[in-house]
Amino acid sequence: MKRVFSGIQPSGNLTIGNYLGAMKNFVRLQHEAQCLFCVVDLHAITVPQDPAALRQNSRNLAALYLAAGIDPEKSIVFIQSHVPAHAELGWLLQCIAYYGELGRMTQFKDKAATKDVVTAGLFTYPALMAADILLYQADLVPVGEDQKQHLELTRDIAERFNHRFGDTFVVPEPYIPKVGGRIMSLENPEKKMSKSDESQGAYIAILDPPDVIRKKISRAVTDSDKEVRYDIEQKPAVSNLMTIFGLFTDMTMEQVTEHFAGKGYGQFKKELAEVVVDGLAPVQARYQELIATDEVDRVLRTGAERARDLSRQTLATVKERLGFLAE
Ligand code: ATP
Ligand code: MG
Repeated sequence: MKRVFSGIQPSGNLTIGNYLGAMKNFVRLQHEAQCLFCVVDLHAITVPQDPAALRQNSRNLAALYLAAGIDPEKSIVFIQSHVPAHAELGWLLQCIAYYGELGRMTQFKDKAATKDVVTAGLFTYPALMAADILLYQADLVPVGEDQKQHLELTRDIAERFNHRFGDTFVVPEPYIPKVGGRIMSLENPEKKMSKSDESQGAYIAILDPPDVIRKKISRAVTDSDKEVRYDIEQKPAVSNLMTIFGLFTDMTMEQVTEHFAGKGYGQFKKELAEVVVDGLAPVQARYQELIATDEVDRVLRTGAERARDLSRQTLATVKERLGFLAE
């Protein structure tokens, strides 16, 4: 059986970008693979986080995994910092990754550009991400398109280690959806939708109430002319909204185009808002049920135990191969 690993940062309210680009595939893959889904809190602190908010966001994210359809009987759901092997292997792989290759990561360049101070952790983050994945010998990593470069680096690190020290790591493959791998900001179609965006109008959160979703969509930027037409080059904003419509309705772009032929942006946005509201409603309802119980906490305890067990073997092998004296 194939092994799958992925994680999401508890760095804010999850967006429909996270949902369409990553989470939907998590739910799909758990029927055909052994899956680990992680709340990557060690990654979240690469940029400043308010401690109380981080704690809340971590638990909320775990509840959202379950609400989205991840079955804790099938998959392992856990918090990254509950499994010390992540930080430990993260350090070891920082000593395998090169300064130059980390400096080429576009996410680092983009995030660093918006910050007054840049932590060392933001720079070395991809080595920790490699550790998350390689620790469990994952074959497949379901992520959005923005993580493709980090996945390539993970593969390079794994191959480098295997080459130098002998076969140790499975070299993982990215698993990126063809449609929905890069949902764009509602305010700027040149920028990807991100939960840590300072402007709340840039994203739709999975847990946004219906009236908020309607308002954000009605204010979303569109392009010149009034036609609902899929054209990434000429009409990036409308094309992004059409992609969201298609993903929530299981319609192809041809079908969406045909459906809105002769209708203007007003009608389009109205229908889009209802489709998103209806699509998120079941997830929101399950989330509200879950968050009030201690089921999430139980799932996280069991998940951490199972993940710790699985992580031990790889870490022991790595330390032995590197030449560390046995305890
Ligand atoms: P942050 O702004 O804090 O980095 P984020 O929205 O980018 O938040 P992450 O936790 O970094 O979320 O990523 C979680 C998963 O969601 C990853 O697999 C990532 O590739 C995917 N993802 C993030 N943004 C998008 C998007 N706009 N479209 C599709 N997938 C996305
Ligand atoms: Mg991100």
